[in-house]
Amino acid sequence: MITIKTAQEIELMRKANVIVRDTLDLIRDKIKEGMTTKALDKIAYDYITKCGAVPSFLGYSGFPASICTSINEQVVHGIPSDKVVIKEGDIVSVDCGSIYKGFNGDAARTFMIGKVDDKVKKLVEVTEQSFFEGVKILKEGVRLGDLGHAIQSYAESFGYGVVRALVGHGIGRDMHEDPEVPNYGREGHGLRLRKNMTIAIEPMINMGTHEVYMLDDGWTIVTEDNLPSAHYENTVAITEDGVEILSL
Ligand code: MG
Ligand code: MG
Repeated sequence: MITIKTAQEIELMRKANVIVRDTLDLIRDKIKEGMTTKALDKIAYDYITKCGAVPSFLGYSGFPASICTSINEQVVHGIPSDKVVIKEGDIVSVDCGSIYKGFNGDAARTFMIGKVDDKVKKLVEVTEQSFFEGVKILKEGVRLGDLGHAIQSYAESFGYGVVRALVGHGIGRDMHEDPEVPNYGREGHGLRLRKNMTIAIEPMINMGTHEVYMLDDGWTIVTEDNLPSAHYENTVAITEDGVEILSL
């Protein structure tokens, strides 16, 4: 079911998303080579709970941590571990969610550690920009196919693969609500967005093929060809003439 939010509900979602944004900014400040992904998870857990919010990923379908940490060829849903040490040249996608007074925030960033290969740096930059290429055309009445097409055509113009197996989503009282929000699509097709719908837009862009598979841990999604992948996500509210990005 697609839910249209009230002004009060969007205000709570602003708060949940600011907590997520600030958690990611804190991780951006602290992340460096030699750290474990488990240490990043602790930073997130401590900050979110200090803000009076709940880390929404923790226990979600049994997920064991407050953030997902996905390195290099890992696309999304990597599990923080005290055995995974961040290295110079890595890209680390961190996905984070919080619940504040019953409403969800959800956002992701891909961090570059030290000197990163120029081709990988370009992938990270294009992934982030592909989100904004989608946002540029968004407003009340725009179709999900148009949004997906804007993201896909930009990313594919660099020869990258747009992940299809995972998509963005509506968000509100539940982290994952209807509708699905693909990062690919056909112009003029799909659901029309309405004012005060809230969605998480999250391009997952691969340097090579768009094909992915899941590791034996039952969570981590990796690229089929082992080439790097980047992730960028924000929660947005649809307005009459555009969007409000709640997690920036
Ligand atoms: Mg997320
Ligand atoms: Mg999401």
